[in-house]
Amino acid sequence: MKDLKLRQPPCDQCQAYCCRRHANKEFSVVLDRDEHERFRGIAVPASIYSADQTDRVIPYDNEGNCVLLSGRTCSVHEHKPRLCRKFSCVNLYICRSREHDDLLDECPDLLQLLEKGV
Ligand code: SF4
Repeated sequence: MKDLKLRQPPCDQCQAYCCRRHANKEFSVVLDRDEHERFRGIAVPASIYSADQTDRVIPYDNEGNCVLLSGRTCSVHEHKPRLCRKFSCVNLYICRSREHDDLLDECPDLLQLLEKGV
């Protein structure tokens, strides 16, 4: 339980489930406005927050993996989108956020890993 208490995600054992399609998600990540230029050529348009506004998202590939995922790791880890930087499966587990319960419930590794105490 050491990592749980410290809120450190067990990244060395992660299978990158959160970077793959789960539930009804149609895209991987919504970019902040100031990230649009950096991910030009990869991101695609989508209306996420309002029908009148065009946002940009990182899509999944045909297999349902984020197009920036390479094996189990992010190919742009050092420069990944802000939303990915903020995400923490351990915090999610502790908070049991309803919004993200689908990830907790469907991730084949996360609950087992965290509940056995890593
Ligand atoms: S950008 Fe990187 S960290 Fe974010 S979902 Fe894609 S592969 Fe995962």
